[in-house]
Formats: sequence, structure tokens, C-alpha cells
Amino acid sequence: ATPTAIMVGTGKAAENGILVRGGEALETTRKIDAIVLDKTGTLTQGRPSVTRLIPADGFTEQDLLRLAAAAEVGSEHPLAGAIVARAGEAGLDLPKLEAFESITGKGVKAVVNGREVLVGNRALLEGFGVHLDGMEDLAGDLARGGATPMYVSVDGRGAGLVAVADAPKPESREAVEQLGALGLEVWMLTGDNEVTAGAIAGEVGISSDHVLAEVLPGEKAAKVAELQGRGRTVAMVGDGINDAPALARADLGVAIGTGTDVAMAASDITLIGGDLRNIVTGIALSRRTVGKIK
Ligand code: ADP
Ligand code: MG
Repeated sequence: ATPTAIMVGTGKAAENGILVRGGEALETTRKIDAIVLDKTGTLTQGRPSVTRLIPADGFTEQDLLRLAAAAEVGSEHPLAGAIVARAGEAGLDLPKLEAFESITGKGVKAVVNGREVLVGNRALLEGFGVHLDGMEDLAGDLARGGATPMYVSVDGRGAGLVAVADAPKPESREAVEQLGALGLEVWMLTGDNEVTAGAIAGEVGISSDHVLAEVLPGEKAAKVAELQGRGRTVAMVGDGINDAPALARADLGVAIGTGTDVAMAASDITLIGGDLRNIVTGIALSRRTVGKIK
């Protein structure tokens, strides 16, 4: 494209809430035929909150919340934030965190009151040899409803489940539909479990065979590369620190302006308000301006 076309395109993009870094990004935008959307914070609001507390036998809701929150104080994950906030609202005094370890993509391991507390997904508890005592069925129900179930154990014994839900942004469904109408293959990418991811995908209109779930942070970029290996020109949209490698790997990295600075630094484009429909505008615009004047 000519410098003039790029200037015009970049200006129009800015008017539509899209910050474009460099003229090349606008040209790449025209060629995109697959788009990968991160779930949490991109398709969803990124404001998870606790929706259910299901204690195991021998525990109260309060015990469960107190233990989980005490352990999650050490974590910066949004799921942890939701649990700690709920404990705060309930006015609970939290026991002191004596030791803490974050297990990437799985959860946390902590020592509270001299007891070992695990909070995380099924893989975490299984990895530590904790018996799930029939909690899987309940967890499955919660996940089918679109919530993320977290298992809690104390000294190797199941203490219950905490469900956290993060609703889709109201505009996500329309954005997905419009991206499809532009001829793009639309994918969802998440570290969350398969069932929860499938439920959210259904809510926003992404087909279940285009869901990449239980992807560890270090594997997100490889998923993008896989699509590229199949001949796709891929845009990746994300907000988190753990999305940065995938954003950098994609042909076009698109950061959500309400997300982390790291994601924005790794991207070619930033959506200022975080409205996914602006991507649709951006693609249409790049096809018009850059394509035409070329
Ligand atoms: P994403 O940010 O894409 O949802 P993550 O890799 O951060 O993915 O997390 C994947 C899964 O690991 C979460 O859905 C959750 O089940 C579990 N997990 C991660 N961090 C925590 C935590 N601090 N507490 C409980 N569970 C966690
Ligand atoms: Mg995210």
C-alpha cells in the first residue's frame, strides 16, 4: 500500500477505537483468515466472581471459603482474586499463609495453619494424589453451566468445590458472528477446562470443534503456530501476560486495551475500549482503504 493509504487507514482505525502500530499491521489485517480469541478477559468480562460453594462432608461453606481464600492470597490469578474478594465480603478473618507455590495452569499449593491446602483444577489434585470422592460429577454440572470449578483439598483430603463464573461480554456473540460473516475461521483459546470452555463457546457462537482448551500458558503460541502451519494467516486477540507469546507469534497480535501492558507491548494492534466488534470494523476498513488504494 502507498504511504498515503496507510496514513488514511491508520487515521480511520484510530477514529474507530483501534490503535495500529506501523503500516505493515494494516496490510496484514487484510490477509487474516483465522482469528484466535482468548476466553478470559477477551470474550468474557474478565471479572470472575464466586457463584457456588460446595463443601465436602465435614466442612462448612465458611471453612471451605476461608481455606481457599487463605491459600489464594498468594496468587495474582483472576480466579484467586474472586475467591479472596468473596471472603472479604463475607467478613472472614483469614489464617496466615505460611508457604505458597503457584502451579502454572493448574492452581496453587499453600500451607495454612500448618495444613497443606490445594486449590485448582482436577489435574492439580490428581497430580498430588488426592482422591476426588465423587466431586467430579458436581464439577461437571458447574462446568456445563459455564462456571470454572475449583477443587479444594486439605492435607490430601477433598474439602469441596468453589465455582467461579465470568460472563461473556454482551457484544461477544455479535462480534463472533460478524467475524464469521467476513469469512474468518473463529477459534477460542483458553487454559480453562474443556467443558467450561465449550459452554462459553456455545454462548458466544463459536463451534465446539474450534475450541482449544486446557492449553498451558507456555503452549498458547504453539497453538497459533499450528494454525499457521495449516496455511492460515492468524490474528490472535488477548489481554493477559500469558497471552503475550501467542500475540507475538500471530501474524497479527491484537491486544485488548483494558488488559495488561505486556499484552499491548507484544501486539500490532490495540483495541482501546476492549470491544471485539472494533476488530470487525478494522478488518473491513483495511480491506477497503489499503486494498483499494494499493
Ligand atoms: P486462563 O488464564 O486462560 O484461564 P490459566 O492457565 O491461567 O488459564 O489457568 C488454567 C486453569 O488452571 C484455570 O482454569 C484453573 O482451573 C486453574 N488455575 C490457575 N490458576 C489458579 C489459581 N490461582 N487458583 C485456582 N485454580 C487456578
Ligand atoms: Mg486472558
